Amino acid sequence: MRYSAAALLRNAIGGQRHWRPAWRFPRPRTRYDVVIVGGGGHGLATAYYLAKRHGIRDVAVIDKGPIGLGNTGRNTTVVRSNYLLDPSAALYEHALKLWEGLSQELNFNLMFSQRGVVALAFTRHELTEMERRVGALKLNGIDSEMLTLDELRRRVPLLNLSRELRYPVLGAMVQPRGGNARHDALAWGYARAADALGVDIIQSCPVSAIRVERGRAVGVETAQGCIEAGRVAVVAAGHVTTLMETAGVHLPIQSYPLQAMVSEPLKPMLDTVIMSGLVHCYVSQSDKGELVLGAARDSYVSYAQRGSAHINAATIAALLELFPVLSRVRLLRQWAGIVDVTPDLSPIIGPTEVRELYVNCGWGTGGFKATPGSGWVFAHTIATGAAHALNAPFGLERFARGALIDESAAAGVSH
Ligand SMILES: Cc1cc2nc3c(=O)[nH]c(=O)nc-3n(C[C@H](O)[C@H](O)[C@H](O)COP(=O)(O)OP(=O)(O)OC[C@H]3O[C@@H](n4cnc5c(N)ncnc54)[C@H](O)[C@@H]3O)c2cc1C
Repeated sequence: MRYSAAALLRNAIGGQRHWRPAWRFPRPRTRYDVVIVGGGGHGLATAYYLAKRHGIRDVAVIDKGPIGLGNTGRNTTVVRSNYLLDPSAALYEHALKLWEGLSQELNFNLMFSQRGVVALAFTRHELTEMERRVGALKLNGIDSEMLTLDELRRRVPLLNLSRELRYPVLGAMVQPRGGNARHDALAWGYARAADALGVDIIQSCPVSAIRVERGRAVGVETAQGCIEAGRVAVVAAGHVTTLMETAGVHLPIQSYPLQAMVSEPLKPMLDTVIMSGLVHCYVSQSDKGELVLGAARDSYVSYAQRGSAHINAATIAALLELFPVLSRVRLLRQWAGIVDVTPDLSPIIGPTEVRELYVNCGWGTGGFKATPGSGWVFAHTIATGAAHALNAPFGLERFARGALIDESAAAGVSH
């Protein structure tokens, strides 16, 4: 749906009475070719690419609440592709390339801003790991550079580079093409585009179970009745384990609350993303001027989406160590999301032992950046019944084979 300038003017002076919703609110039909459980960015992107690239339009995306209010609408919006291992680098770089044309493709301003992502090193070990990572990234054709302290000072003038710090900064790496985007715009953009291609988006409809007959997924049980499906795809971050258990599929996942917060709005002061592993905090400045602060995950598994004062206090202490100039800034609000974490901190994308049941989960603290790539490869997997080369290494069976993709260094900071 495209709005002309004249239509915008007409709606503005007409009190928006004729404003059409960006997507429909259909009642669920009794059967679809594909039912996607979870209307976060990944589920909506999957639906869009199924319709757009594979011509599969008889698709429903079902969410227990309004779309995009899970982790998609709660994350701190860092987008980058600087992962160490070849399979991850390929998958996240594919996603980043899609990001670069996505506002145009969806005709929706995602406010994607490639302002660079700078990761700080505080110990010799961190510095060595970064040098190794930059080398690996260059071999994979992904933009990445080490920064000297002088370069860092020029790039982030307010950063405290004093030698007197508890942990002085020793160096940094940067991915210039990394940055931020508006998180809920991603969900809305994909939702509108998928809807326009015929996908039904069913909101406020919790799925309680996956129906399996003779080893094959045949539908889902929902608050609005049973819906039959030729294929069922579960993309329900944070709550995926309990849902998949209803189909007899056990996932090696633990769910944790991950904390975040924003400050009051400030004048522009930080034009890049700062990630800091040892002095744990990551921070960027939103277009509204708020400092968006990422904290750690809680130490205990839990489904409680509430704040953890000690985690937030540690993050604020870290921020002030890096930017003492912010000591009088006030916090505006804080929140948490439930993230699903695998043993190797890499996602699970692929078929399961139940025929026609597919799962996309385990993105942990860092799946926002991957959304376009994840939806793209997952749609391919659902449409063809087989993994794409990019997601083949990320199958569930890797845990049985011991073929883990250990990204604890690249995913160590929660972002
Ligand atoms: C505080 C925080 C900061 C983060 N920061 C970053 C970051 O900077 N960069 C980054 O790349 N990633 C970040 N992440 C991670 C990122 O947000 C997630 O990996 C990503 O958004 C997952 O998207 P998704 O679509 O899979 O899940 P979600 O957006 O969580 O969507 C899952 C959907 O499933 C629905 N659902 C669940 N159970 C059911 C059910 N039974 N029936 C129907 N629907 C159901 C939920 O309502 C939800 O809408 C962060 C996460 C958090 C919490």
